[in-house]
Amino acid sequence: MKVGFIGLGHMGAAMAANLVKAGHDVTVFNRTAQKRRALVELGAREATRVAEACTGDAVITMLADDAALQDVALAEGGIVPSLPKGAIHVSMSTISPDLSRSLAQAHERAGQKYVSAPVFGRPEAAAAAKLFVMASGEASAIDACVPLFDAMGQKTYRIGTAPEAANFVKLAGNFSLAAVIETLGEAMALLGKAGIEPHTFLEVLTSTLYPAPVYRSYGALIADRKFEPAAFAAKLGYKDVRLALSAAENLRVPMPLASLLHDRFLRLLAQGDENLDWSALGRLAADDARTAVSAGS
Ligand code: NAP
Repeated sequence: MKVGFIGLGHMGAAMAANLVKAGHDVTVFNRTAQKRRALVELGAREATRVAEACTGDAVITMLADDAALQDVALAEGGIVPSLPKGAIHVSMSTISPDLSRSLAQAHERAGQKYVSAPVFGRPEAAAAAKLFVMASGEASAIDACVPLFDAMGQKTYRIGTAPEAANFVKLAGNFSLAAVIETLGEAMALLGKAGIEPHTFLEVLTSTLYPAPVYRSYGALIADRKFEPAAFAAKLGYKDVRLALSAAENLRVPMPLASLLHDRFLRLLAQGDENLDWSALGRLAADDARTAVSAGS
């Protein structure tokens, strides 16, 4: 397919590279021009303006947050004014359901299509084309995007026809991941103060109660206190918990645990740790308890 890709950060760079490797005709744009170089060397075309990435069958966005996507999509020379009629905006960032809904309407007014397709998986999974894609929107538009999703991910889940449905699933998933990080951090703080090695606990936990990849990967990051370089920055985790809380408030759904996580993230940010990996949330309990720090810190 002829496709544009906008946003070459930790995730987008790897996703765009997999589209090129799969044989798609890819034009890349990133605000910071230097990040386009590696993709161009791999065989992508370079766009020097957003509009130049909007000339194909589809354009994919993988931008930081609502504000960035709103700007890139709706500004003069942005995606909505530039995309041909019938072409699809595939929105893969983790954004609010409200923004998805309003972008879908803006694209419909312009005779274009909008598909929400946020993903689960960190940059390593993106590089290995192992992402899980949550897709929502018009069925025929999702069908048209399947070759793109197959090049970037291991499985696509169809969540529904409402454009914002996939965004709800993504936010609920990230909320639950943040809760796992917090519980692992609290459990390890307790054991650390009791003089029990955190890796021993992790081995027991992940071979008995929770043999799941997220417990293994986040548990190891917390036990090793390895929060740099960030694969998913704390400021993005904070954004996602805020988005989940805002969606919950709109629908009148009390989420007390999300409120607690909001304050935990806020503390990380207040300490100046917004660019650490979001698993740094898991060290706050040990800090509170003045738990001795494990090897690897
Ligand atoms: P990132 O490395 O911080 O990249 C953010 C991208 O957004 C960069 O290309 C950046 O451009 C661009 N951007 C930010 N503000 C902009 C603006 N105002 N105008 C234009 N471009 C702007 O973030 P990431 O980790 O790739 O995450 C991207 C999205 O995927 C986020 O919504 C995140 O929540 C979601 N996500 C991340 C992960 C993960 O593990 N990292 C996993 C799943 C989903 P510059 O290079 O010019 O700054």
